[in-house]
Amino acid sequence: MHIPMSSPDITAAEIDAVNQVLQTAFLSIGPQIEAFEQAGAAYVGARYGLGVNSGTAGLHLGVIAADVQPGDLVITTPFSFIASANSILYERGVPVFVDVDPRTGNIDPARVAEAAHDLMHDARSMTQDRWLPRALQSPASNFQLPISQSLKAILPVHAFGQPADMDPILDVARRYGLRVIEDACEAIGAEYKGRKAGTLGDMGVFAFYPNKQMTTGEGGLIVTSDDEWAALFRSLRNQGRDVFDAWLNHSRLGYNYRLDEMSAALGVTQLRRIDELLAKREQVAGWYNARLGGEELIEIPQLAGTTTRMSWFVYVVRIKPPANRDEVLTRLAAASVPSRPYFTPIHLQPFYRNKFGFKRGDFPVTEYLGDVSLALPFSGVMTEEQVDYVCQQLRDATVHATAD
Ligand SMILES: *Cc1c(COP(=O)(O)O)cnc(C)c1O
Repeated sequence: MHIPMSSPDITAAEIDAVNQVLQTAFLSIGPQIEAFEQAGAAYVGARYGLGVNSGTAGLHLGVIAADVQPGDLVITTPFSFIASANSILYERGVPVFVDVDPRTGNIDPARVAEAAHDLMHDARSMTQDRWLPRALQSPASNFQLPISQSLKAILPVHAFGQPADMDPILDVARRYGLRVIEDACEAIGAEYKGRKAGTLGDMGVFAFYPNKQMTTGEGGLIVTSDDEWAALFRSLRNQGRDVFDAWLNHSRLGYNYRLDEMSAALGVTQLRRIDELLAKREQVAGWYNARLGGEELIEIPQLAGTTTRMSWFVYVVRIKPPANRDEVLTRLAAASVPSRPYFTPIHLQPFYRNKFGFKRGDFPVTEYLGDVSLALPFSGVMTEEQVDYVCQQLRDATVHATAD
């Protein structure tokens, strides 16, 4: 039985939509992008949608909009896909990592509040140092980046499709005048206390790489209800070009972050099917939950009380000691079941260790989750038989990974 790690869910309707575009003269900047943006904004209930050619591009533009200058600080999570923190580095900002809630793997709002409180004080002090990457703390003199120490934004990530605990985070942001950039790249359709992920902060970003809940091949969508930010994103993604007559002009440094028409057409069709796509994934997650729920060495995903709708992006279990995650992974691979450690903590990635001096021990909850988490094969097109097979192999692998 061949079981892929993930699969897109593409029907004849998607193929037809892309084919249609190829028979027109508009392969970029045409009617499809507008249709996609309108449908995307309407789906989440935001005023504006802006298509971009990756989720990472969308996050980068969010960091620019939040006015992150070289050396400015942004509070974010180390338990994420690396793009969320990289988007801060593109503007030479400094990520202020705070540890996560062990139940959900999402940024811990109490730590966000503490960090913001300490960092908003004027003078350099030990209380501020404790939040900064080791290489930027006071005694370190050889670090390349300037630190202006101006805290500008909070960048929470809705990990695995479960919304972060946003209300206390938004309180902190209001209190200190910080911008909130939601990395909702894994969470289209997810709901926090009945509100859609991506619409809670100043802006949100969704991503549509083929392993996400819906795909455009490569692509992303920024959503915001802020008029000025929407105009700014429109300009920035298109080489900084003027949008309206006067106030945006070509002197802005822009990018080519445009989404092409084939991708947008694919997105329009997938968005039309979004309820179906999410429901199928929920069903597969339910099959996994039912089979793995009672296992002693396997912990299934936990949902917070604030999560009124989970949007299943991946299915991630925790392998409990004495079973060893890496050994389980190797044994699964031998049985032709792919699986992945998910996430590898960002602060332990070589680039971040070298540049900022992070070490193991800096964020213990994130590191624990990084050590025990295992993403199983998952998609909306998986069959119950495939889930059965994966679960059977996982049980065997886990028992054997304990024996030695
Ligand atoms: C997928 C993803 C992104 C962006 O991905 P792209 O490949 O650039 O579209 C950003 N953050 C997280 C947490 C993601 O999972």
